[in-house]
Amino acid sequence: MDTIRVQEISQIDQRTLGITWTDGKKSALDVVMLRRKCPCAACIDEWSHEPRIKPEDIKDTVRPVKVESVGLYALTIHFNDGHRTGIYTFKYLRELATPS
Ligand SMILES: [Zn+2]
Repeated sequence: MDTIRVQEISQIDQRTLGITWTDGKKSALDVVMLRRKCPCAACIDEWSHEPRIKPEDIKDTVRPVKVESVGLYALTIHFNDGHRTGIYTFKYLRELATPS
C-alpha cells in the first residue's frame, strides 16, 4: 500500500501552514490549533488520552519556528513557546487538516 507523505510545506500566512501531499491533496493547518492538538506525552495523557493542556493555555500568538521531518512518517514542529516534543504523524495531520 502506498503511504501518503508530505511533499511540500509552505507558509500560507502568519497563522497557516500549507501542506501538499504526495497524492496531490493540499491541506491548510492553523498553527495555533496544531499547538493545541500537540500529541506529545506532556499535552495528552498517555493512558487516558485526555488532553493535559487547555486550549486557553496556548496563546494565539504561538507560531512554529521550525518544522522538521521525522523519518518518512511524521513532522516535528518547534514552536516559539519552546515546545517541540510533539510528533505529528502524517495520518494525524491529515485528520486535523481542513481540505482546501
Ligand atoms: Zn506537546
